Amino acid sequence: MRIGVPREIKIHEYRVGLTPDTVREYAAAGHSVVIEANAGAGIGASDEAYRKAGAAIADTPAEIFATSDMVVKVKEPQAREWTQLREGQILFTYLHLAPDPEQARGLMASGCTAIAYETVTDAKGGLPLLAPMSEVAGRLSIEAAGSALKRSAGGRGILLGGVPGVVPARVVVIGGGVVGSHAARMAVGLGAEVTILDRSIPRLRELDELFQGRVRTRFPTTEAIEQEIFAADVVIGAVLVPGASAPKLINRKMLKSMRQGSVLVDVAIDQGGCFETSRPTTHDEPTYEVDGIIHYCVANMPGAVPLTSSHALNNATLPFGLALANLGFAAVMQNPHLRAGLNVHRGRLTNKAVAESLGLAC
Ligand code: NAD
Repeated sequence: MRIGVPREIKIHEYRVGLTPDTVREYAAAGHSVVIEANAGAGIGASDEAYRKAGAAIADTPAEIFATSDMVVKVKEPQAREWTQLREGQILFTYLHLAPDPEQARGLMASGCTAIAYETVTDAKGGLPLLAPMSEVAGRLSIEAAGSALKRSAGGRGILLGGVPGVVPARVVVIGGGVVGSHAARMAVGLGAEVTILDRSIPRLRELDELFQGRVRTRFPTTEAIEQEIFAADVVIGAVLVPGASAPKLINRKMLKSMRQGSVLVDVAIDQGGCFETSRPTTHDEPTYEVDGIIHYCVANMPGAVPLTSSHALNNATLPFGLALANLGFAAVMQNPHLRAGLNVHRGRLTNKAVAESLGLAC
């Protein structure tokens, strides 16, 4: 199969669909790969590195879209990309179609077969192509909090880990899934005092086992949340109710009880955010203040570390991408997990949850 990788064109997106390492894997399996010139610049991968791995370099995205059987990307296609897709061509990337009817209509009109990373499943019911980005975002959330806590950034001026003789910061993580557990791991590693709240008791048991007494776990009643945020320096919002908007767990009134200069990091902002006062921010201007509390609500946190994120994403997408390259659409029919990733095929939406959110037929 001929696989094409255009340069990402969404603003501030520096990740790339295939790294040179994975190009080598596709080439070894007998596939030809064509990469747009400079597509790897954001992760320091030169065209020469791609050539060495076995790829051809195309000067324009038009060449990629016109000649590839499968297009591999990171972010959802922009309008000038989806108009170049064609019938029978496979698109393998993040799509996030539910809030994006324009893109959904564009993909349906193209006739392409679009497989969304975020709805591909695994045998345990997890989302294996979303998880690596949650790992990155979880770990980054503590770095973001550490920066925002600095006095110069408007924060309380407390060091996450403290120093001998001075207490460390208190970090409260709401939602102990992939994001939450990776945030907790970083915070514990730095020496902060960490509490994780999750409404799943089996998950709290797992976390208790995992951290061996180095974090406190707590069931998130409103009373418990109020008590925890009262004493917190940092609150990480990391809840997910699959397919739904994030529940608002901290409202504006509750902010009044928090200490001035403490920090809320709302990682769940891509699902609407779990704090009432959250609104999406960008890497250019990641924070803002409400009632003396610093808010960090960047919706594409992994984009800040494209090198790590591209490799983490490629590690996860490779087996699925190779199956698609080897078998074409038959791979989707044979593998229920790839089938779960199928969002658009031959002009129709094929994912029930996505179709329902868009109010369209499936
Ligand atoms: P996950 O499914 O692994 O974990 C979510 C956890 O939230 C689960 O353990 C669940 O039991 C818990 N939960 C649900 N409702 C709760 C409630 N009311 N109170 C307490 N806990 C509750 O999900 P994840 O992969 O960790 O993702 C978390 C969020 O982070 C998602 O919205 C995801 O899209 C988002 N995310 C954002 C970025 C970003 O750049 N901003 C990057 C990656 C992921």
